[in-house]
Amino acid sequence: MTSPVWHPYAHLLTQPAAPRVVGGEGPRFTLDSGETLLDATCSWWCMIHGYAHPRLVAAIKEQADTLCHVMLGGLTHEPADRLARELVRVTPPGLNHVFFSDSGSVGMEVAMKMAVQYHHLRGRPEKHRMLSLMKAYHGDTSGCMAVCDPEEGMHSLFAGYLPSHHFAPAPTAPYDADADAVAHDLAALRTVLERHHHEIAALLMEPLLQAAGGLNMTSPSYLTGARELCDEFDVLLVFDEVATGFGRTGRLFAADHAGVTPDIMVLSKGLTGGYLGHAATLATDRVHDAFIGETPRHAFMHGPTFMGNPLACRVALESLSVFEEENYLEKIAGLNQVLRTELLEDPALRRHPRVRDVRVLGATAVIEVDDAAGLEGVAAFARARGVWLRPFGRWLYTMPAYITPEVDMRNITGVMKDWFR
Ligand SMILES: *Cc1c(COP(=O)(O)O)cnc(C)c1O
Repeated sequence: MTSPVWHPYAHLLTQPAAPRVVGGEGPRFTLDSGETLLDATCSWWCMIHGYAHPRLVAAIKEQADTLCHVMLGGLTHEPADRLARELVRVTPPGLNHVFFSDSGSVGMEVAMKMAVQYHHLRGRPEKHRMLSLMKAYHGDTSGCMAVCDPEEGMHSLFAGYLPSHHFAPAPTAPYDADADAVAHDLAALRTVLERHHHEIAALLMEPLLQAAGGLNMTSPSYLTGARELCDEFDVLLVFDEVATGFGRTGRLFAADHAGVTPDIMVLSKGLTGGYLGHAATLATDRVHDAFIGETPRHAFMHGPTFMGNPLACRVALESLSVFEEENYLEKIAGLNQVLRTELLEDPALRRHPRVRDVRVLGATAVIEVDDAAGLEGVAAFARARGVWLRPFGRWLYTMPAYITPEVDMRNITGVMKDWFR
């Protein structure tokens, strides 16, 4: 009998039956057949500690005994208060205010509304459009779809339904590019800002790593240059660190590579170690203080039912403690070393006729092929070798849990390379 569960991004005629997961431990999950699979994607990039981490599980149980949920409207509680303080401590200096919500998409919606209202309250209501980048992905809700890549993104069918925003070309200079290469990308950004800054509230970007839009990587100098341009044109800079946050690029946040503080920053995926859905939108004093005023329009009109959920906040606090106490940045550097030697520095893979590019940043690696057809069947191929890979489009990638042992990391890269043998 077919299940009433409607799966995401699934073509109903061609989707294979979804395997049933019954549990997991460390970097692996287990199916009801007894089969275990090494998860090369850590469940859409969020299960950074792997499955069934004892400290995270204990934190949820302990919090469940005390308080599972209470509204944040007019009330507060210790887990939300402590988590907000911790996020202010670990994020780039100046991000002093935290607005909680329940998912990455909603966290981005909050960021965009905040930017629009910020300009409105400062007497610039005409600054109500966003500037986004090609290859961007910021979520699946309507507001977010409108700032995803309108051509190669997955939402082109909805074009007529969405508001229109501005787009600049995706950055092309790689992570270690020299200033000249980055200058070209920044000039493209400047062109759009010069023409449209009067109606632009914020520049949105996934700093250093445009993830779901094709794992496009760029240079920290691009972030520095974007910061300067935003200041010049009175545009807020929003970093969507939903995917890059919590170590994925090799630093705690992608912003740390450049020493840049955005005006607004959004965190989700790794925030709770993936154990519960939650998000945080952080803002600087400058943004926050614009909302201090006497008119009714000064209140920020947003409030998800589950914002600041105590279970989510408590497990996020535990996740951050484990990350720091167990020196995860070192673990990530170890994974990066394997990804570099096994993929980036493999001449046969680089020269393979179907491979267009190989990129590595932190605990992220992608093999980009010329034609999506070249990846058809790779998930089944990997599963037969005990690895869960889920390529999309032209991109075969891994974003493993940070606790993945080196031998398992090599297992994943081995399967990725074997596909091209
Ligand atoms: C996943 C993702 C989102 C959306 O998060 P959801 O929790 O799926 O709503 C937004 N931005 C980026 C960069 C993401 O990777």
